[in-house]
Amino acid sequence: MARNVCILGASGSVGESTLKVIRTFPEEFRLRSCSVHSNLAKAEEILKEFQPEFLCISSDSVDRKILGNKQGRTEILYGSGSLCQLVVDPEVETVVTAVVGASGVAPTVEAIRAGKKIGIANKETLVTCGPYINELLKTSDAYLVPVDSEHNALFQLLRNTNRDSVERIVLTASGGPFRKLPVSELPNVTVEQALRHPTWNMGPKITIDSAGMINKGLEVIEAHYLFGFSYEKIGVVIHPQSVAHGIVETKDGASLVYSSYPDMVFPVAHSLFYPDIVPKTLRPHPSTSWGNLEFLEVDPERYPGLALAYEAGIAGGTAPSIFNAANEIAVELFLKGEIRFTQIPDRIREALESIPISHPTDLEGFQEADSRTRNFVLNSRKGKVSQSC
Ligand code: NDP
Ligand code: MG
Repeated sequence: MARNVCILGASGSVGESTLKVIRTFPEEFRLRSCSVHSNLAKAEEILKEFQPEFLCISSDSVDRKILGNKQGRTEILYGSGSLCQLVVDPEVETVVTAVVGASGVAPTVEAIRAGKKIGIANKETLVTCGPYINELLKTSDAYLVPVDSEHNALFQLLRNTNRDSVERIVLTASGGPFRKLPVSELPNVTVEQALRHPTWNMGPKITIDSAGMINKGLEVIEAHYLFGFSYEKIGVVIHPQSVAHGIVETKDGASLVYSSYPDMVFPVAHSLFYPDIVPKTLRPHPSTSWGNLEFLEVDPERYPGLALAYEAGIAGGTAPSIFNAANEIAVELFLKGEIRFTQIPDRIREALESIPISHPTDLEGFQEADSRTRNFVLNSRKGKVSQSC
């Protein structure tokens, strides 16, 4: 019988990859429920093709009259609270968290409480409240299968490796569109240039995160909470071709590398099938046409956000929550043309230096740090920060 899947954020890039996998394996998976935030055109496409039991429109500002309460067999739910309703549905086997930003926290927490298998794409959840999530996982049958490509690669490599033999885990990064631009020109890059990712096709927020390697910083923290390695054992290397995703370096000096086309169907399919194997070729092996593969050191001057992420991760507690929330607001401001690209790490640094770090054990403590940081960055925009733009 087909396994029931719930996709949070079905209208986004990872959401689309997940729908593609469900479409490819109709005997194995059924779309039981999903959410979009504001993209009603996509919602209508999904209703027509998949006829899920439930579809949630999570934005509070959408006109409810457009889709009403029922479309064919599908019940339409509204508001961010409905995300939690979707994930506790007893019929759902796997929840894929493909929403962007800290909006993933509440439904992920509910999915854990409900004991679900969670294909976790939304890295901001672990960055915002990793210690809380890891404690909560101990109280439930729920488990996480990483969908983020580097973490999915490492998850697969680590399952087949004796942990005692691991020296270090390494995440690869493309280096983004500004890898070769003179550092002095970075303050003048446009939104359009920053949105032109060289290898991956992704949503706007993660594409901006990738351009400054802040995405990699979020991923280093995500890897810490997923795999339990200390920060000095989590490395980052620039690999512009994006075919190697994760590397496990072993104590004997060897490296185990996971590689595939830069296409999210690989980690999504792995997470949906897990613990079973993906039974069919998703895209043929291209190893003869890959050409030269480069692995390069990160230039800290070009990517200051990465070092900030390590600092926040090592500080622990709410420091990663502050890092994430400051980045989310700064990216929004950059996308609106209110700050420069290079001011994104500046905003994060200011927030980390100004907001006290605490070590809460409850979710509220992390959420408090998150909302305090958002207010701080928004308010600083009105003061000295915007003058420097
Ligand atoms: P997109 O921007 O393409 O999609 C985001 C999804 O979240 C959309 O469905 C959007 O709905 C929904 N959404 C937006 N705001 C909210 C909100 N406030 N509450 C609930 N839902 C909301 O993002 P991506 O698919 O690129 O990324 C999703 C997550 O996966 C991110 O955390 C990202 O870091 C992570 N990730 C993405 C990868 C990729 O290849 N894209 C790779 C690895 C990780 P709508 O469009 O209807 O408004
Ligand atoms: Mg990634």
